[in-house]
Amino acid sequence: MIRFKYALCAMLFLCVSVGYAQEEERQGGHENENKFRQLYNEMSTPNSYRTASGAPGHEYYQNEADYKMSIQLDDASQRITGYETITYRNNSPDDLEYLWVQLDQNIRAQDSPAKDKNGGGVGAVSQPGSFVSSYMTEGFDGGFNVNSVTYNGKPLKHTINFTMMRVDMPEVLKSGDSFEFSIQWDYNIPDHTVNRARSGYETYKDGNKGYIIAQFFPRMAVYNDVEGWQNYQFWGNGEFALPFGDYEVDITVPADHLLDGTGEITNLKEVYSKEEYKRWENATKSFNAPVIIRTQAEAEQIAAGNSTKTKTWKLKAKNVRDFAFTSSRRYIMDAQAVRFPERNVMAISIYPPEGNPLWEEYSTKAVVQTLETYSKFTFDYPYPKAISVHAQGQGMEYPMICWNYGRPNEDGTYSDRTKYGMISVIIHEVGHNYFPMIVNSDERQWGWMDEGLDTFMQYLTEQEFGENFPEAIGDNKAYPSRRGAPSRIVNYMKGNQDFISPIMSNPENVYQLGNNAYGKPATALNILRETVMGRELFDHAFKTYAQRWMFKHPTPEDFFRTMEDASAVDLDWYWRGWFYSTESVDIGVKEVKSYYVTDKVTKAGKERLARFGITDPSTIDAVYVVDEDSEDFDPALKGKSMLENSETLKEYLMDNFTPEERAAIKEPKHLYKIVFEKPGGIPMPIIVEYEYADGTKEKVTYPAQIWRKNDSEVSKAIASDKEIVKVTIDPDLETADIDTANNSWPKAKKLGKFEKFKENVKG
Ligand SMILES: [Zn+2]
Repeated sequence: MIRFKYALCAMLFLCVSVGYAQEEERQGGHENENKFRQLYNEMSTPNSYRTASGAPGHEYYQNEADYKMSIQLDDASQRITGYETITYRNNSPDDLEYLWVQLDQNIRAQDSPAKDKNGGGVGAVSQPGSFVSSYMTEGFDGGFNVNSVTYNGKPLKHTINFTMMRVDMPEVLKSGDSFEFSIQWDYNIPDHTVNRARSGYETYKDGNKGYIIAQFFPRMAVYNDVEGWQNYQFWGNGEFALPFGDYEVDITVPADHLLDGTGEITNLKEVYSKEEYKRWENATKSFNAPVIIRTQAEAEQIAAGNSTKTKTWKLKAKNVRDFAFTSSRRYIMDAQAVRFPERNVMAISIYPPEGNPLWEEYSTKAVVQTLETYSKFTFDYPYPKAISVHAQGQGMEYPMICWNYGRPNEDGTYSDRTKYGMISVIIHEVGHNYFPMIVNSDERQWGWMDEGLDTFMQYLTEQEFGENFPEAIGDNKAYPSRRGAPSRIVNYMKGNQDFISPIMSNPENVYQLGNNAYGKPATALNILRETVMGRELFDHAFKTYAQRWMFKHPTPEDFFRTMEDASAVDLDWYWRGWFYSTESVDIGVKEVKSYYVTDKVTKAGKERLARFGITDPSTIDAVYVVDEDSEDFDPALKGKSMLENSETLKEYLMDNFTPEERAAIKEPKHLYKIVFEKPGGIPMPIIVEYEYADGTKEKVTYPAQIWRKNDSEVSKAIASDKEIVKVTIDPDLETADIDTANNSWPKAKKLGKFEKFKENVKG
């Protein structure tokens, strides 16, 4: 009997806000569209190469490509000539009939279809360089000249299709075997300051050139369990997919050039002056400040000459997915050591005088901070060095070396925008060593896997840089990060849906690549860390992903699965909302209603009981709840406590509780129903701040799962001692809510034109 009364009470309370849908007509069926269903349809089936946990499987493999290269840089004609021998190891279980080699420079060939990949007619505005090259010249004569492809000195059959070359081997390459072949090539180096070349030269005001050279050699494509041969053409936006290997590279440049690149220079004593070598040795022991290896005065003096002799720099790199180098007679260089438990790493900056005073001040500091912060969140930086090179308008990454913009005015002054832009791009590009140079995702297919993860890590690093170098950020309280904070992505996410693509898209096919592959995934990860998972669970899972896939080739699923596997947080709904869809976040408070307890049988209560087959309410004990707008509401109920309004409750307590238990019973004075609405498609936790009449505030978070049975509206019953005077959703703007007009109750008054005018007059 007691049990029955209690159960009924609970039932009535819970049912306050839920109306039963009357099934009067037969309805059509539907498929499972619940936003919390698992991503079985979107994700590939786990297998022995890639497990359901997101880790590499017991049969995981990757093929390898080792390179021995001899390169000549002709400064007079801006030309590269090269000869390489590739040893390709087939670790796959499959026999390979042919190999695919990437010829990325062909994107700059005169007949390149990439030049015509976009429609759009005549643009309203364009950069002078792009305008001249589009309309006023024949176009640059770029692209590889492949002079020979040989095997044991004999020609190998090969077929070039745009940026891909198929090499037909004399015999099938069996699983477990390797194949060694050689290619001889040359190409004209483009001016990298036009047409978004990631590699090329720029001409300084004294006529000298600075070279940043990449994609300069025919590179092996990736063959794996996911794509077979990844020979999706290079159209310009989707970057690179490359296998790991060891490199031995000899590069011959004018004798007065300073050169550096991927890997360790094995003949430092031959290529550095005695003084430079001594300074380098000092730099390897300098952990607090950079040591200048070649000063600005020395660089300017050397640049005034023009050596006709050459010098060969020898570099060796182990377990890298690519190789790049820089060379100029106008370079300044500084370096500093960074301590890791196992060994030290050199942080290096190379820049022309055009970069100073900014570069001498901040570049190496930014490199050091990047290595420290990224290593903390992923793994200790495994390479011997990280170089930041200054090149006009560039931001591009390669193993151990990257190109970065950020140039002061000619008189050496610079704006905050230039300074922060430079520090941020250095952090970003050096950070790419982790994603995708070491955690080697397929950039050709998934731009966000490296750009998004890297931009997220960049945000964390910028914040730590701001803490460690307060003098660099001046009056700012924190480093002014351009991307990462939730509020920064709102404009994009509330934009025109015709020009937004899901993050899970190929970078060639998306609108607004910067927001799509950098800003949005970085923000999504930041929100995941701060608001959904919490730092401890997120950081452990993120590190697990990085360490599982270090020196391997992960896919998006490997990332998504690992984040769940290592945290026990089901995130399928989060991946669906943020990564697979273009939905946005918009949660609001729709209504707040006060309720009162009464013993008087109400009309609504009577109807409810009838549903349970109780036609005569007088036969049972029940507590009725009315809201202010109900016809059964009696104003006398207002201002009184629940027990004062209900004898039934009072008796129930007397009958069923001891005096000690009764003393512990709460008697809230207020009962509310708060209705939350969700016009946005992404389910997110509801973060609510309740403000009470006594001025105190309370922040409550309801899990995203609250939306699993109703995707547009949910309500909560709140029993409280204190009167609620204000309700605010997402008070700290942590969810990227695109419309905050519905985020508070009572509704924030919108000022009309006249009120605004009055405010202005007052102000
Ligand atoms: Zn990037």
